[in-house]
Amino acid sequence: MLNVPSQSFPAPSSQQRVASGGRSKVPLKQGRSLMDWIRLTESGKDLTGLKGKLIDVTEEELKKHNKKDDCWICIRGCVYNVSPYMEYHPGGEDTLMSAAGSDGTDLFNQIHPWVNYESMLKVCLVGRMAVKPTVSKGMLPKSQVTDILAKEGPSSPSYDWFQTESLVTIVIYTKQKDINLDSVIVDHQDDSFRAETIIKDYSYLIHLGLSHEIQEDFSVRVVENVGKIEIVLKKKENTFWKSLGHSLENHNSFIPKKDAGLYYRRCRLISKEDVTHDTKLFCLMLPPSTHLQVPIGQHVYLKLTITGTEIVKPYTPVFDSLLSEFQEPVLCNSKYIYFLIKIYPAGLFTPELDHLQIGDYVSISSPEGNFKKSRIEELEDLFLLAAGTGFTPMVKILNYALANIPSLRKVKLMFFNKTEDDIIWRSQVEKLTFKDKRFDIEFILSAPTSEWNGKRGYISPALLSEFLKRSSDKSKVLICICGPTPFTEQGIRLLHDLNFSKDEIHSFTA
Ligand code: FAD
Ligand code: NAP
Repeated sequence: MLNVPSQSFPAPSSQQRVASGGRSKVPLKQGRSLMDWIRLTESGKDLTGLKGKLIDVTEEELKKHNKKDDCWICIRGCVYNVSPYMEYHPGGEDTLMSAAGSDGTDLFNQIHPWVNYESMLKVCLVGRMAVKPTVSKGMLPKSQVTDILAKEGPSSPSYDWFQTESLVTIVIYTKQKDINLDSVIVDHQDDSFRAETIIKDYSYLIHLGLSHEIQEDFSVRVVENVGKIEIVLKKKENTFWKSLGHSLENHNSFIPKKDAGLYYRRCRLISKEDVTHDTKLFCLMLPPSTHLQVPIGQHVYLKLTITGTEIVKPYTPVFDSLLSEFQEPVLCNSKYIYFLIKIYPAGLFTPELDHLQIGDYVSISSPEGNFKKSRIEELEDLFLLAAGTGFTPMVKILNYALANIPSLRKVKLMFFNKTEDDIIWRSQVEKLTFKDKRFDIEFILSAPTSEWNGKRGYISPALLSEFLKRSSDKSKVLICICGPTPFTEQGIRLLHDLNFSKDEIHSFTA
């Protein structure tokens, strides 16, 4: 049984109070937490009012259901009766009502595209849209979406294939130069072969049922200067293939990444190590038939089924150590993904994660995030402001910047925590200051013991103006900030007050 406190939710100090982009979450009534919703959906109650039937919904019908106690919303072509869910919605009833009787796909995509609504709202499913009712992209048939949006973005890639006696090579021509091994994600699971290539903010998908069996492992190569990706499959039997296979859903589509949906694969828990009293280093192993590398500054979603409902939460992969030698993505093709995760005893997801045994499985999504490595190129000063586990995106950024940016003169981390015991990888951070003279660290504690000689308090104009000293008047600078949402929002305001421009700041949010 999960221990979910019954006080107003989210707790005043919880990071659930405010979501990314400043979207405020509303306090939910007692008995209206996510766990309470899961219990209601498991209760067998008829929540659609249709006694288990699914119907085709016309535009006219959808429009009629626009009241709080009779509210239907269409998300990605499926219609849900969300009235029973109103009081459980962390974003409040008004947000749901703003899409009442209409297509909420765009609104949903703007606010929380990763949320697994299919699972959360499965008992509220009324049916599918019978016809396209509006001009919203979310409701157009996929082929039309692909056509319209491909015209707005980069030109569509193409693919080809060839074979030898023992190998089949699929070649993707991206027509872009800045392609590397991070850009392509390949999964071969059961009868489906998927290769998703990320080109700028677009996703190109090859999705096939292969005509013959292949061996578990395959290799992926990238010819960067011509933007060509080669996926080399090993045939199980050395026979001639007449075709590569048959098309599966969305095969050969090229659509904005935000519309592509997240794909998950099951990963095995390899190890779990204590880092602080409440934070652990988790190591997960990708399946042998997956190629996936999480780009610097990006996160993934972990998915677990908790009392029958799929729950997802975002986490930012790190390296196994802050002192690891940086490896170019071209060279490393690691099957291991590491996470530093803080366990909240009253949280929904992390206690479940903590209870997993070595060898258990967790699903990991494809990467997400808007940080671009190009923001670090030619940088002179890099300042990192992290609070608590907001340290996680800084790990790869630090490692990459120190190893790859010759122009870099100064890298400083200001790390906010409650007490000394909460500081993640403190000794590694300190060792890094000895290893690389350009790097410096400042710990700020909000609730230190009386023995603490360092700085104390919260993010403030005084702390920042002293810390953020450029190496020269016009130095090229980037400030990365990550932590509890109110911390990040306050930090951004203070940075603007100190005359740092938008281009000089990157904030990490979902
Ligand atoms: P929640 O259920 O969300 O609970 C969080 C807090 O609220 C806890 O303090 C809990 O005690 C309190 N709470 C819960 N229920 C109640 C209630 N009914 N009443 C009062 N209080 C309550 N975290 C990491 O550790 N590592 C990462 O690398 C990481 N990366 C992230 C990347 C992104 C892009 C984002 C947005 C977040 C990231 N997070 C990371 C945070 C992570 O996604 C989760 O929010 C976090 O793990 C908490 O999840 P939870 O379900 O266990 O807790
Ligand atoms: P925490 O221990 O609760 O807080 C870390 C430090 O920040 C503490 O000193 C705390 O002070 C201070 N702080 C908290 N809220 C503040 C505010 N409003 N203004 C100024 N200082 C504040 O942090 P945590 O539990 O590890 O949580 C880390 C957060 O980072 C989570 O919300 C997580 O979602 C987020 N995160 C985001 C990303 C991302 O977006 N990419 C990645 C990783 C983590 P007190 O003593 O007052 O608590």
